[in-house]
Amino acid sequence: MLEDKNEGKTSISDLGEFGLIEHLTGHFKLYQNSSIKGVGDDAAVISGDSKQLNVVTTDLLVEGVHFDLGYMPLKHLGYKAVMVNLSDVYAMNAEAAQITVSIAVSNRFPVEALEELYAGIKTACDLYRIDLIGGDTTSSRSGLIISITALGRANKNELVYRSGAKESDLLVVSGDIGAAYLGLQVLERERQVFQVNPNAQPDLEPYSYLVERQLKPEARKDIVQLLKELKVKPTSMIDISDGLSSEIIHLCKASNVGCQLFEDKIPLDPQVISTCEEFNLDSTTIALSGGEDYELLFTIGIDDYPKIKGNPNLTVIGHMTQEKEGIHLVTRADTKIPIIARGWNSFPE
Ligand code: ADP
Ligand code: MG
Repeated sequence: MLEDKNEGKTSISDLGEFGLIEHLTGHFKLYQNSSIKGVGDDAAVISGDSKQLNVVTTDLLVEGVHFDLGYMPLKHLGYKAVMVNLSDVYAMNAEAAQITVSIAVSNRFPVEALEELYAGIKTACDLYRIDLIGGDTTSSRSGLIISITALGRANKNELVYRSGAKESDLLVVSGDIGAAYLGLQVLERERQVFQVNPNAQPDLEPYSYLVERQLKPEARKDIVQLLKELKVKPTSMIDISDGLSSEIIHLCKASNVGCQLFEDKIPLDPQVISTCEEFNLDSTTIALSGGEDYELLFTIGIDDYPKIKGNPNLTVIGHMTQEKEGIHLVTRADTKIPIIARGWNSFPE
């Protein structure tokens, strides 16, 4: 069956490891002045800058654990794998500049499949002006494993950590949340329908935003830029990969503060609201526990509020408090519920 599917396709062994690397990476451009040597030597070379600090972050994505090729096209996977890393760099209020990409891949993937993966990686690099400067390629017994490392830099006084929030700071989120998780639910449902009836034509139109948020998330480089333009330096920041509740808890724990989050302030897309109704899900629960939105969650001093007020990209959703007051959701009915981390756990018990 797999052999049939790969008929007419190029086997990785036809190119060999070095041929494959050249084939996949040869057409990438270098955008950054700091990239002195990219792919092709024993190590990449990046120029230093005495005024700036370097930022490094890595993510490992494993087939069947972090992604499912049943509904995730390889091109989207490549794009998303880059976004996940860039998002971590932007969450430091830094600029991303380079990535390395390491893959372990089984023979069941023809060269054409890896071309798709790298097409997605390249689209991301071109759009965000990121240089692919190296990586590693090896074989795997089963599935596909991708590890990406992103490098970035920022002036020392621009970096924002999770630990700087002060009581009375405002809690702000970019964009809207909950859509990526619902997108996954929609894709999962369509796949089950397809398994029962392969002729079923999925109508994803009513869920287009949700599916796009799941398959093609964007790292919020624009928000880092916007904050610079507005002359707002967040006191603490994190990206929303796991879900609002666990990210709020991270900020509070790192900063030794408490938080009040207001349910009626959480920004939701209309498709999130309508799909929650259809699936009989509570939209606040989805926003708190969903994950994969890759929005930025940050705190600002109250004096900076006039600078962000009314900006359609930014929503104040709460404020920080003394640590002893704890971390709470203030519901629409004005009751206070403790927030617990229900974000996605990669080691379920
Ligand atoms: P080494 O044996 O020294 O590890 P490799 O043959 O693995 O060297 O890599 C040769 C060059 O190709 C290096 O510049 C490396 O960073 C780059 N490279 C290897 N695999 C990948 C990949 N999957 N994506 C991008 N660059 C890669
Ligand atoms: Mg190597």
